[in-house]
Amino acid sequence: MQRFAFVDWDDTLKVTNALYDAASQENARKIMAYFSPAKLNVRALQRRAHAIDLAKTHAAGLRPDNYPEAWAELFYELAEEHGKRACPHIAASLYRRAAEVVHLPQPDYPGARDLLLTLRKNGWEVTIWTSGDESVQKAKVKRSGYETLIDRLCVAPEKNVDSLLQALEDRDPSRVCVIGNSPRADIAPALAVGAWAFHVQHSTWEYDEAPLDVEHPRYVPVDSLKEVPAKLALIVS
Ligand SMILES: [Mg+2]
Repeated sequence: MQRFAFVDWDDTLKVTNALYDAASQENARKIMAYFSPAKLNVRALQRRAHAIDLAKTHAAGLRPDNYPEAWAELFYELAEEHGKRACPHIAASLYRRAAEVVHLPQPDYPGARDLLLTLRKNGWEVTIWTSGDESVQKAKVKRSGYETLIDRLCVAPEKNVDSLLQALEDRDPSRVCVIGNSPRADIAPALAVGAWAFHVQHSTWEYDEAPLDVEHPRYVPVDSLKEVPAKLALIVS
């Protein structure tokens, strides 16, 4: 009988948060240099930009512009606080560095390729189940070189129960495994529709947090993608 894997992309198969982190650190340092000798620090600036980004995401959804806009806005806020002119070239460079993150090559998490190969070898239908901007997400999958191991790509503006049900179409949820790192976007909706939920314990951000029923019989936490193939074989035969 057919089995269906719905696999998340960002920070499940592919490193994402760390790329944002590197851009945030560079931007914070650039801002500190501009406002020197004001007492600013990298972590506090990262936190402030992050808070603006999170507020934008809550207000307007997962737009690729949220993060770069957050850095430019933070720069203008700081200029006002410090009574210093905000150089538009610096604002533009902060924006650019942040905006390029979604176009950078994403390293694999350990076990990513082997997981896709195992799914293919064992006859699973593989859906990449991801959220955000459709063209950005499509380009990421294309760049990865994994297209031949993937059957479908579903990009939802937001991953929740409704969009998961829509993506399932007529697939029997009890034969579906959702594999992802986000409690809010991957795990909670999977359990709600009656699918298996493989919770990969990779880094995530506040937007992805949600309370989880970790006692649920279909909740399967894993520390690494390397654990997934063996557990999948036990669960859905
Ligand atoms: Mg994710």
